[in-house]
Amino acid sequence: MMAKPDVIDESNLDPNLKYEISNQLGGENIKRCFQCGTCVASCPIWEIDERFNPRKIIRMALLGMREEVLSSEFIWLCSKCYACYERCPQDVRITELMGAIASIAEREGGNIAIKSTKPIFDKAFVNSIRKYGRNFEMATIINGVLATKGIKGLLSYVSDGFTMLKKGKLGLRPEKVKEMSQIEGIFKALEEK
Ligand code: SF4
Ligand code: SF4
Repeated sequence: MMAKPDVIDESNLDPNLKYEISNQLGGENIKRCFQCGTCVASCPIWEIDERFNPRKIIRMALLGMREEVLSSEFIWLCSKCYACYERCPQDVRITELMGAIASIAEREGGNIAIKSTKPIFDKAFVNSIRKYGRNFEMATIINGVLATKGIKGLLSYVSDGFTMLKKGKLGLRPEKVKEMSQIEGIFKALEEK
């Protein structure tokens, strides 16, 4: 039997998606993309997993494939290496664009099923920066693993945790930066944007 071709259902397209993304900080230049594929050829994540294809994600977003784009686990895979950002002939700024799309997916809340666990770890990381001014790895790991794998999952890492503690790779207590007011100022400025 012949494989069924992928078909785009026109009735499900959202023509406003590209405007929503271009109004989001970092997504401004999405409409400049002319699909040359330079970003894909530069991408180290694509080299590991060809399903992560920034050109394709951008094309789908421009077409208005809202649900497919926002619920895709691939929008969370970008490692922010900036290789594509430097090479894109249209200055699409893909690195920031991926963040812009991910922010819209997060804002959708329960309407979109986010398949990646990355936003949970991102949140645990940001909470730590907000509280201490730097990453307190112990708390980030515990909060991230608890939220994604539950107590059983956390217990499965206990022996690795002890090994890391013994080697001095994990701290037991957080170290706060001295100028916490500057950290608070950064978060305030970001929230006002
Ligand atoms: S390199 Fe830029 S113009 Fe080319 S496909 Fe990627 S985003 Fe589009
Ligand atoms: S910034 Fe993201 S999309 Fe661009 S090359 Fe790096 S990993 Fe790939």
